[in-house]
Amino acid sequence: MDKPTLIVIGNGMAGVRLVERLCERAPDRYRILVIGEENQPAYNRILLTPVLAGEKHFDEIVTHDAQWYKGHNVTFIAGEAATEINRAARRVRAGGRVFDYDHLVLATGSRPFMPPVPGAQLQGIHGFRNQQDVENILRGEDDGQPVAVIGGGVLGVETAAALALRGMQVSLLHRGAHLMDSQLDEHTAELLRVSLGTRGIRSVLQA
Ligand SMILES: Cc1cc2nc3c(=O)[nH]c(=O)nc-3n(C[C@H](O)[C@H](O)[C@H](O)COP(=O)(O)OP(=O)(O)OC[C@H]3O[C@@H](n4cnc5c(N)ncnc54)[C@H](O)[C@@H]3O)c2cc1C
Repeated sequence: MDKPTLIVIGNGMAGVRLVERLCERAPDRYRILVIGEENQPAYNRILLTPVLAGEKHFDEIVTHDAQWYKGHNVTFIAGEAATEINRAARRVRAGGRVFDYDHLVLATGSRPFMPPVPGAQLQGIHGFRNQQDVENILRGEDDGQPVAVIGGGVLGVETAAALALRGMQVSLLHRGAHLMDSQLDEHTAELLRVSLGTRGIRSVLQA
């Protein structure tokens, strides 16, 4: 009898870890197909910041290369978004093709929150979530324009520090009264603000 087909939509941290575990624990149970919207093999998203900073090359943060999928009999479709699920027929549409499944996993992660303010869609404004965002952000690197990072939480602080390392002139805008207010008390946040200042990052609070 044919093996049941498992389709995983999303080749991010959760999707690929699930597939990896299945390959370890039940290698013969499913025919596995992974559909990933991003155009590259799986990578450690957490390490995108060092890539943005120029401390690492993207290749160094790839966790599962094309060889890995091949070696584990996992079919991987990169650069195609799943655009339709038909539960009655058990089919997924992606990139003009239709795939049958027995089991379906959605591991599609999340998208950056873009504040609903006028101009949020203009050119030169980026979220920071994936490798393409890194490329898009760095494309503007050479024009010498100052950068504003919106959001002084963990990721915003990391991003500001990374861009400052690239030699950009960075302002960090945060709506709270102190940076990383979910993690730090006022005193510690002030030490952070001063420390960022020594790297040339200007923090603008209650902004
Ligand atoms: C720069 C950065 C630093 C971070 N640092 C930390 C940290 O230090 N500690 C920590 O715990 N977390 C950190 N995070 C958060 C962490 O990366 C996420 O929690 C984690 O990636 C979530 O895994 P996921 O698989 O659910 O989603 P993701 O890793 O986002 O993967 C989802 C995947 O699904 C794909 N997808 C979405 N829709 C479709 C579709 N329709 N069809 C096909 N594919 C689709 C997306 O393109 C993406 O590749 C960081 C995130 C970023 C961006």
